[in-house]
Amino acid sequence: MKVLLVAECREGKVLGNIYELMGFAEETKSEAVLFLVGNENDLPHFSGKLYLGDVETCKEYNPDTHKQLLLQVFEKEQPDLIVFSHSSYGWDLAPRIANSLKLCQISEVVDLDDDGYIVPACNAKLRRRVKNATEKVVLTLQAGAFNAIEPGEETPETIAIETKQQSQVVFEGYEEAEQGGVDLTKANVIVSAGRGIGKPENVSMIKELAESLGGEYGASRPVVDSEWVEHNRQVGTTGQSVTPKLYVACGISGAIQHLAGMKKSEFIVAINTDKDAPIGEVADVLVVADLKQFVPALTEKIKAVI
Ligand SMILES: Cc1cc2nc3c(=O)[nH]c(=O)nc-3n(C[C@H](O)[C@H](O)[C@H](O)COP(=O)(O)OP(=O)(O)OC[C@H]3O[C@@H](n4cnc5c(N)ncnc54)[C@H](O)[C@@H]3O)c2cc1C
Repeated sequence: MKVLLVAECREGKVLGNIYELMGFAEETKSEAVLFLVGNENDLPHFSGKLYLGDVETCKEYNPDTHKQLLLQVFEKEQPDLIVFSHSSYGWDLAPRIANSLKLCQISEVVDLDDDGYIVPACNAKLRRRVKNATEKVVLTLQAGAFNAIEPGEETPETIAIETKQQSQVVFEGYEEAEQGGVDLTKANVIVSAGRGIGKPENVSMIKELAESLGGEYGASRPVVDSEWVEHNRQVGTTGQSVTPKLYVACGISGAIQHLAGMKKSEFIVAINTDKDAPIGEVADVLVVADLKQFVPALTEKIKAVI
C-alpha cells in the first residue's frame, strides 16, 4: 500500500505531528511519500520522497493553492491513502481533496480495524467501526492515536512543486491566544480533575492534593467547559501537552484526546470507580475507588508525612 502523508508548517517550522503520520505508515507497513508546503531549510527527517511547495509563494494557510498542489502529487503518485493529522489544517484541507477526487473521507481515526477504521463518536463515549466504500481514501488521524516514530538524521529527496492557482483566501498571519495563569508543561506533579469529581465544589480537594504534593492542578475538557476550572489548565489535544514526573488523574475516563496530552508522563496514577476505564491502559497504578473518599484521605496521609 502507498500512503501520501501531509506535513504541516507553522511559522516556518515543520510540525512534529508528521512523525505520528509516519508511525501510522509504519504500522500499516505502507510505502510513504510526503507532501509539505514549507521551508526547504526546515524539513522533516525522512528517507523517501518529499513534494515541497514553497511557503513564501503559497503561504502556510491557503486551502486553494495547497489543494491544487496536493492534487498534482496525487496524480503523479496515485497513493491508496492520503493521510492528514486531525488538526485545523487537516480538517480544512482533507474534505476539499476528498471532494475533488470523489473519494471517501474518514475523519479522526484513532485505530485500525481488520478491514476498516475506528473513529470516536458521542464525545468519545462510543467508537464507530467504519469501512471505506471507495478504493482510495482520505484519512485524518487523531493526535496521539498512533505512536510517533523517533526521527533519525535522514534528509528527504525533495521534489519542488508549484501552481499558478489564484486563491480566494488571503492568509494574514496568526493571532496569539491570550496567555495567563499557569504553565503546566513546567510542573513536576499534576493532579487533574475529570467529570468524575461531580460538582465544582470538589475542585478544592484536587487543588489540595496537588498542593500537598508540591504540584499544580489540571483538568479534563468537560471540567473546563463547565467553567469549574480555567481553560489554561486543560490537558489534552485542545489544551496543554504535559510530561510531569507524576500525573494523578482523578475521575478521568481516558478519552484519546485527554491521553494525547498526558500519556508521556513518567508515572501515572488514576483514581476511578470503573476498573475498566480506558485510563487504566496508560496508568502505572489504577486505584478503583470513589475519589470523594480517596482523595481527601490521601491528602491527609501525605500532609502527615511531609
Ligand atoms: C475535537 C475534540 C477535542 C477534545 N479535546 C480534549 C482535551 O484537550 N482534553 C480533554 O480532556 N478532553 C478533550 N476532548 C473530550 C474527550 O473526548 C472526552 O469527552 C473527555 O476527555 C472526557 O472527560 P472526563 O474523562 O473528565 O469525563 P468522562 O469521560 O465523563 O469520565 C468521567 C470518569 O469519572 C469516573 N468517575 C465517576 N464518578 C467517580 C468518582 N466518584 N470517583 C472516581 N471516578 C469517578 C467515571 O468512571 C469515568 O471514567 C475533546 C473532544 C473532541 C471531540
